[in-house]
Amino acid sequence: MEAAFSQFYKRTPKQRLALLAETLGLSEAEQQALQQRAAQGDAPLLIENYLTTYQLPEGVAVNFRVNGHDYVVPMVTEEPSVIAAASNGAKQLTIAGGITAAVHSRLLTGQVVLSDVKVYASIDDWVALHQNELLDVAKQAHPSIVTRGGGPKSIRTRDLGEGFVSIDLTVDVKAAMGANMMNTMLEAVADVVQSKLHHTTLFSILSNAGDQSLTTATVSVPVSQLADDLDDAQQVAKRLVQASRIAQLDPMRAVTHNKGIMNGVDALVIAMGNDWRAIESAAHAFAVKDGQYRGLSDWQLAGDRLTGTLTLPLPVGTVGGATKVLPLVSINQKIARINSPEELMKLIAAVGLAQNFAALKALVTSGIQQGHMKMQVRSLAMTVGATPQEVPVLTEQLMALKDPNEAQAKQLLKQIRNHKEDNHAKR
Ligand code: NDP
Repeated sequence: MEAAFSQFYKRTPKQRLALLAETLGLSEAEQQALQQRAAQGDAPLLIENYLTTYQLPEGVAVNFRVNGHDYVVPMVTEEPSVIAAASNGAKQLTIAGGITAAVHSRLLTGQVVLSDVKVYASIDDWVALHQNELLDVAKQAHPSIVTRGGGPKSIRTRDLGEGFVSIDLTVDVKAAMGANMMNTMLEAVADVVQSKLHHTTLFSILSNAGDQSLTTATVSVPVSQLADDLDDAQQVAKRLVQASRIAQLDPMRAVTHNKGIMNGVDALVIAMGNDWRAIESAAHAFAVKDGQYRGLSDWQLAGDRLTGTLTLPLPVGTVGGATKVLPLVSINQKIARINSPEELMKLIAAVGLAQNFAALKALVTSGIQQGHMKMQVRSLAMTVGATPQEVPVLTEQLMALKDPNEAQAKQLLKQIRNHKEDNHAKR
């Protein structure tokens, strides 16, 4: 097999497919499915060994009001109920007056790491003394960002212990996520450190911590809005606050709490052509910032209001990376009326907060399954091969069963098809 794949990267997607079909025994139908989804344009050049385009469903969440503006939110996800929950959560939060969101700062940090350092102070002193020179080197490595009003802002050192020292460069990356421009600047700084300080560097790369791109979304909901009856509403508020508190106390619960937030965050980040692995790593690192993994959001009772807060590191960009290459991104930016990275950061935080509100409210009231049931049953209908025409009929029949399973779904689908054939024959 190894020989067959030699210089695989040099082949065209068609040749790659033919080779895979031959060596792995792909059927005609499987080959066609792969070929039909092959993209035109530059998207195939984004990655290596391109074969086809893996598609995910995109929908829009509605009802969002953030800082007084109404938003339609494009979301890319394969998970049922995420968009429904986001829209539902947003509706309730909009009725309450809408979400407020603010960006704390928008900077990116990168590291030049030195190893085998004997005396930390010697590096620290040298960097302090040559700060301006190092910042100039970074500027010259990517001058266009300076022309755009951004560029390197500060430099500092940190003693990591065991002879490792990090020289941290902080850059204003303007509208980009900034990974590549940062790495270019860091490598230039590393060259100077090596030649002038005579110390070899171990590596240079941006940090995905994102802690200088924090964004906070907040909301304040009248408790009376949470149920028709005031006593019930107070119970819902109390239980929701308790559920949020558990995510602060118990990492096992915090992981699931945060997964729910990331359901919405990732879906929007993907729709905007951004690096969702970067956003995921940053969010989980932030969740453990005080040494224990905790829920990223916090819900409290303040008098007769329920207040929710979510702070996330969101180093996203509206230019660069895949944003211009993936054809749907600019359309999605238009749908969401995103004109700046700051606006995108605020919308992402707001989506995370609405998603979290919807999940917690469902959890402490009807339970998560009730809302999910119809969507899960639709998935089951599709899994057993129901056509788009058959899905609604099969879903309805499955909903009438308690805990429907795949065998039952197959049986019912068979019956639907038999029934259809009988009717056809009678005509
Ligand atoms: P690019 O390399 O595409 O750089 C963005 C470029 O856009 C800038 O260099 C700038 O070029 C141009 N630009 C145009 N308008 C603006 C503006 N208003 N503000 C800022 N720049 C502008 O992307 P990034 O550097 O943002 O890197 C993002 C990509 O890097 C992502 O795809 C990510 O997956 C990937 N990556 C991530 C890593 C990580 O997270 N650890 C590591 C390595 C890569 P100019 O000024 O010359 O016109």
